[in-house]
Amino acid sequence: MEIKTAKNLDGKALSEKIQTELASQIKELQTKIGRPPGLAVLMVGDNPASAAYVRNKEKSCAKVGIASFGKHYPKETTQEELEAVIAALNEDEQVDGILVQLPLPEHLDAVKLLLQIAPDKDADGLHPVNLGRLVREEAGLRSCTPAGVMRLLAEHNIPLAGKNAVVIGRSILVGKPMALMLLAADATVTVAHSRSQDITSITRNADILVVAAGIPGLITADMVKPGAVVVDVGINRVTDDSGKSRLVGDVEFAATANIASYITPVPGGVGPMTVALLLENTFASYLKTAKEKGILN
Ligand code: NAD
Repeated sequence: MEIKTAKNLDGKALSEKIQTELASQIKELQTKIGRPPGLAVLMVGDNPASAAYVRNKEKSCAKVGIASFGKHYPKETTQEELEAVIAALNEDEQVDGILVQLPLPEHLDAVKLLLQIAPDKDADGLHPVNLGRLVREEAGLRSCTPAGVMRLLAEHNIPLAGKNAVVIGRSILVGKPMALMLLAADATVTVAHSRSQDITSITRNADILVVAAGIPGLITADMVKPGAVVVDVGINRVTDDSGKSRLVGDVEFAATANIASYITPVPGGVGPMTVALLLENTFASYLKTAKEKGILN
């Protein structure tokens, strides 16, 4: 049998392209608007993985010219203190986007904090108002990871209308908004999850397979339809026999790349797109505010 290698859905390259475009737009607009866009990333406690994610987001902000208003709070910070911080950021005219880095220490209620964020500053697109706008297919801030997947598919002109799209995972963060975005693009969407039976019979029917379960090796090549487009959202840290740790997705990459038409690498696929879309959401809020104030038309 002839072995073909799938084309790479390179999220790192597209993310860099998006950031270069954003940087030039911001440079051009900030004299007109009188300030750069602003993003506040709030982090509580000292989870090392979260600290790395926050650093990465702030570095990307600096690269494109978005001002960072984020703060790092000690793990004892109370719910009331954080709610007051968010209320002040909601009113702050320098700030276009606010997000709370998860996970939070146990005594804090993440959902209640999310509800405090003004929907038009909800850079992560996870506020119920923005999720409602997605359900209704109205304009709004979209959750970054699934929106990043859609951009990656669009960049490669992958047709979605009438195609069978299967999403593995049903989280609020990824699976559910992903399914809604694919549905809005006229795909026929199936969502599989931890209670689904005979996942293979579902995945083998997928023209587009998006996997977001967080289980390394969940999808093996025999579960994939030849020629399918495979998007691996999973990020898992695994340790190999020599004790070295590395990041892998949920899809068995090498074998699947031999039968798929397109595949995302991990790392370098969906991960960088999430950051790019976070910056785009912040920029979109910045433009919206400037238009509402009559600074731009
Ligand atoms: P989650 O734990 O909230 O949800 C996992 C989902 O997978 C659940 O809906 C569950 O029903 C489903 N699932 C679990 N076991 C399954 C099985 N055996 N078969 C089918 N479905 C199963 O996780 P999440 O927040 O949605 O994240 C999923 C993965 O994506 C994680 O690895 C996470 O690290 C990664 N992630 C990556 C990015 C990125 O930027 N690339 C962003 C967010 C999350």
